[in-house]
Amino acid sequence: MSTIIYPSPIFGPVHSRRLGVSLGINLMPGDGKVCTFDCVYCECGFNADHRAHLRRPTREEVREALEVRLQDMKANGPAPDVLTFAGNGEPTAHPHFPEIMDDTLALRDRYFPAAKVSVLSNSTMLHRPEVVAALKRIDNNILKLDTVDADYIRRVDRPTGAYDVKQVIEQLKAFHGHLIIQTMFMKGTHDGISVDNTGDRYVLPWIETVKQIAPSQVMIYTIDRETPDTHLEKASHEELDRIATLLRESGLNVSVSY
Ligand code: SF4
Repeated sequence: MSTIIYPSPIFGPVHSRRLGVSLGINLMPGDGKVCTFDCVYCECGFNADHRAHLRRPTREEVREALEVRLQDMKANGPAPDVLTFAGNGEPTAHPHFPEIMDDTLALRDRYFPAAKVSVLSNSTMLHRPEVVAALKRIDNNILKLDTVDADYIRRVDRPTGAYDVKQVIEQLKAFHGHLIIQTMFMKGTHDGISVDNTGDRYVLPWIETVKQIAPSQVMIYTIDRETPDTHLEKASHEELDRIATLLRESGLNVSVSY
């Protein structure tokens, strides 16, 4: 098993399939995973296998570490294409996420004003108005919606608290297009039950909903690294291309990572 626990609060830069040269900002403890989902495909592993003992970094620790790293990149390169909130769990669940975003935008403007700021989020904290306000200020507001099927979400994304997909869809619509939808497509089984969401049963209702949400882009992708459940399988190029074509025919802007 080679799942990844990222250093905290800054890691990389890494070359991202989707985002380019990406400096990572991890608001979770550096010794484990803390997430409001427990996805069966998570590259960080299952929550229960990676309990953290350290605390989350404070706002001040994030600001200081980010500034030191940006100063080094300014002097020695490489220039980041993007500063990305990601890592061992859900970044918007940090209690000071909005204030940390204020600091990050200020540091980005000072050191690399051309760099984008991205957040990879699972959309579980959109009931907090201050989280929504922070996400509205960034370049790439990337929000997860793997399906609109509540049973699939319960089995595959496995929310650790209350999660109502209908409510989340309304929260996504309320960004009025200032968002990117990210969706994982895969096949295989978990606990002996199919997790294949590449067929019309899942794809067609999801596309109808995505059309209503009207994001600036839809990122579709499949498993890239080792997953904690080894019975999962990648979606094929052909399956991803078929879904991308359906999205484009619906007038949506699509990026595909195979
Ligand atoms: S939302 Fe992301 S970090 Fe959280 S369990 Fe799922 S894949 Fe892992």
